[in-house]
Amino acid sequence: PDTFTHTFDTPLFKGKTSFSTGLYIDGKWVDGVKGTTIDVVNPSTGKLITKISAGTKEDVDLAVAAAQKAFDTTWGLETPGTKRAELMNNLGNLMQKHHDELSALEALDNGKTFFWAKNVDVADSIGCIKYYAGWADKIQGKTIETTNGKLTYTRHEPIGVVGQIIPWNFPLLMMAWKIGPALATGNCIILKPSEFTALTAIRMAELIHEAGFPPGVVNIVTGYGSTVGQAISEHPHIEKVAFTGSTVVGRKIMAAAAQTNLKNVTLELGGKSPNIIFDDADIDQAVKFASHGIFWNQGQACSAGSRIFVQETIYDKFLQKFTEKAKSLKIGDPFGVDTYQGPQVSQQQFDRIMGYISSGKEQGATVHYGGKREGTEGYFIQPTIFTNTKPDMKIVQEEIFGPVGVVIKFKDDADVIRQANNSEYGLAAAVFSKNIDRALQVSHKLKAGTAWVNCVNQVHFQVPFGGYKQSGIGRELGEYALDNYTAIKAVQINFGGFDV
Ligand code: NAD
Repeated sequence: PDTFTHTFDTPLFKGKTSFSTGLYIDGKWVDGVKGTTIDVVNPSTGKLITKISAGTKEDVDLAVAAAQKAFDTTWGLETPGTKRAELMNNLGNLMQKHHDELSALEALDNGKTFFWAKNVDVADSIGCIKYYAGWADKIQGKTIETTNGKLTYTRHEPIGVVGQIIPWNFPLLMMAWKIGPALATGNCIILKPSEFTALTAIRMAELIHEAGFPPGVVNIVTGYGSTVGQAISEHPHIEKVAFTGSTVVGRKIMAAAAQTNLKNVTLELGGKSPNIIFDDADIDQAVKFASHGIFWNQGQACSAGSRIFVQETIYDKFLQKFTEKAKSLKIGDPFGVDTYQGPQVSQQQFDRIMGYISSGKEQGATVHYGGKREGTEGYFIQPTIFTNTKPDMKIVQEEIFGPVGVVIKFKDDADVIRQANNSEYGLAAAVFSKNIDRALQVSHKLKAGTAWVNCVNQVHFQVPFGGYKQSGIGRELGEYALDNYTAIKAVQINFGGFDV
């Protein structure tokens, strides 16, 4: 396979990266069976960065065979938890050694700022791998009393070969969330990164190799969703698939699993999360968090606080401060020293978001701030605030996945709970109030997998994350995620006489 080499010469990072762009299967770098490639585009300029391999169904078959062999011979039940922990800690340490390089690659490929890539994406990916390394030797079952002369114990066994399909908004972090619990519990992996942002996953193949994982334990097959992604979700020998991405594709994956081998499915899908700001909140804090909630990562976060509900008594004051905050956000080069907002990830996403902005205008909402492309090169969009919306408008109901928020008035607690829950999604929600009784009562009534009180976007690897309703199935992170990758076996022993 070809080698990608790039020299970064920026105020925040100077250094070089160089790695093979092939598929990583059975511990080796190979070209895809068909030898086709995918263009990797720099979202800040729209220009080509490099090409990566476009894998196919045949490549997935090879990866599954390698993973199955590794599971049966060197990993799975063959490698004790302490050893898995050691290898995972090696990987975490190598990621730490290459922290800046991984951050720069993420900024180049995705368009997120180097600052956030370094302090959130890569820092939390390292934390996540080390956190799950800590679990690797603590995978335990129970003993269960039944009748006299009988003993039952449970084993939390690895499932076997698992498929993991991840999106482009947090490329390395989603990889860490997926491989962390799967490796800790002893599974072998076929991972497909997004075709838009595969560079950090490909670089990780080298670090996984260097960390000492046996060949076939982690296989990385780059390619399109309709080929590699579909081959993973339909594969008869993949026993589990974990997916993060759009609800539309989540549905396809579940259908493919149902129609083939009924593989176990976990889904982390979209959101349209409410941020609720009561008139007894610290308004300056609420403004800062609401801005970060919707504009951070260019609005490309599944948990983005895209519906901002403000109590009518403070609506005008909030809107004025929120608009000032949006105006102050520096848009530009992801490697710029004070840049807050970079470009959207791709031309497709840019067009999709601009389409939603047009639809908001056509349906009669007011563009209170922003609404336009920023600059003439790359995929930059101004932070955008809509007002005068109606509940059934597309910009209020659908996930835009860009820096576009709607600010909506509400009367009282009951009114905002009803409006906030009027969504097919239920990923996250935030409540701002200095009245703790009210904040907790409202939080408990929101249909969301995460409720933040007086903050937003707190995502920690120790804490479960996932959605109600069409935001997904299952929970990632924390101790809960271990369940996604283990099958429970009950071993029943008779040490008494013949007693059925
Ligand atoms: P997507 O769902 O199309 O892609 C996510 C992953 O699934 C990618 O790796 C893709 O190649 C793969 N995929 C696509 N089609 C597939 C198929 N038929 N079978 C198996 N895998 C397939 O998401 P996207 O196109 O990158 O973004 C579209 C929208 O998805 C966004 O605008 C946003 O609404 C949503 N999204 C949500 C998240 C999230 O974290 N919840 C992340 C990214 C995108």
